[in-house]
Amino acid sequence: MSKKIFNTIWIVAFAVFIAALFLALGIAYNHFTEAQKSQLASETAIAARGVEIAGEEFFDGLVSNEYRITWIDTDGEVLYESDADADDLENHLEREEVMEAIETGYGESERHSDTLGNVRLYSAMRLSDGTVLRLSIEHMSVWSLLLSLAQPIVIGIFVVIALSIILAFKLAKKIVEPINNIDPDRPNDYLGDDKYKEIEPLLRRLSKQQEQIKWDKEQIETASLIRQEFTANVSHELKTPLHAISGYAELLENGMVKNADIKPFAGKIRSESVRMTRLVEDIIDLTKLDGGGADMTWEDCDLARIAENAVDSLSDVASFKEVELKTDLESAPINGVPQHLYSIVYNLCDNGIKYNRKGGTVSVTIRNRDDGICLWVKDNGIGIPKESQGRIFERFYRVDKSRSKDVGGTGLGLSIVKHAALIHGAKIFIKSAPEKGSEFTVVFPKKRV
Ligand code: ADP
Repeated sequence: MSKKIFNTIWIVAFAVFIAALFLALGIAYNHFTEAQKSQLASETAIAARGVEIAGEEFFDGLVSNEYRITWIDTDGEVLYESDADADDLENHLEREEVMEAIETGYGESERHSDTLGNVRLYSAMRLSDGTVLRLSIEHMSVWSLLLSLAQPIVIGIFVVIALSIILAFKLAKKIVEPINNIDPDRPNDYLGDDKYKEIEPLLRRLSKQQEQIKWDKEQIETASLIRQEFTANVSHELKTPLHAISGYAELLENGMVKNADIKPFAGKIRSESVRMTRLVEDIIDLTKLDGGGADMTWEDCDLARIAENAVDSLSDVASFKEVELKTDLESAPINGVPQHLYSIVYNLCDNGIKYNRKGGTVSVTIRNRDDGICLWVKDNGIGIPKESQGRIFERFYRVDKSRSKDVGGTGLGLSIVKHAALIHGAKIFIKSAPEKGSEFTVVFPKKRV
């Protein structure tokens, strides 16, 4: 970049000099021509006066290197010619300046002279006897002017090249140095500094990128922290049933269990295995949901039918716990992932049953409204304290750890509900009061037609 700036500056400086030089030469050439013409006119007037007074004798012994003098008779015949032999010269009456002088008393012209082979300025004056005296001088061409000024021009060119190179070098350094000094991690430090005024848009973009990178980094760090925490929690949650299973198995293996206790021991091993299986299933569900739902099969389905299936599969658990399961389902066409829609209803109903009392109820309602499809799962169970309501969707968060474990909870149910709702663009609302019960509302956006 610095090389480019350097080259641009010195080439521009040099080009400006050359353009200025040619302009100056043009002006000088014009000025010079005008001066030559007016000098020729006054010389002609003086010579004419001389011829008027002295006649032919005026030319005796006249030496003129610069001027060519011609005296032309009234019929155009050359009476005197300073440069060539007058007799050889053709009739001069046709010459522009001579014609003009005969007509008006004075004439001028500029043309290529066939006799002398160069461009000349002519000035002619009519005398009182009708004859015409003409003076001419070689008109200096642009090239001869340029040639006569060659030495100062060449020196000037070298000086200008040297000066523009020095200037270009200094300017390029001045432009590039502050840019190179920028610390890309702190672009805001340079905003408002006069040296950086021109590159403020670049600094602002840099600053925006820095913020984005910072945010991305924070997100990655948070995600990694959540993953670490999740892995630690999963290991811990799996360890407990595994310890129990291996403990019971060891006792059985060593014959330390009475025959009558073998059955309940085997039952404990089975129930711990069920807990582990449930946990692993929930983890698999969550992992799938973490992917955002892009690789899942989206289908047009009816939320009411899905809810019916979920409620059906929980009916045994509900009657075992003596909790009544009620439904009021309106057909609600929805585009979604059936497996995860099922998880939403299943987990909410399962919680309604688990955290309830004998004789309690869980009611599931679905309404297909203009502003969205609404699912309500309401129970009159133990309720959730206000301070815990913001945390129940966190992984492994339980209001009452032992109660959750007693009822076979994994601490992942509501996390699954939250993620499944998220991939469907649904919103969740919760209303709950301890000892009174809880109501979960999930609002799905309407299927796009
Ligand atoms: P769990 O497997 O422990 O039920 P969830 O993620 O489903 O895990 O729920 C988190 C916690 O929220 C539960 O441990 C429980 O304390 C509380 N909770 C969830 N649903 C209800 C409800 N309907 N009534 C009372 N408490 C609930």
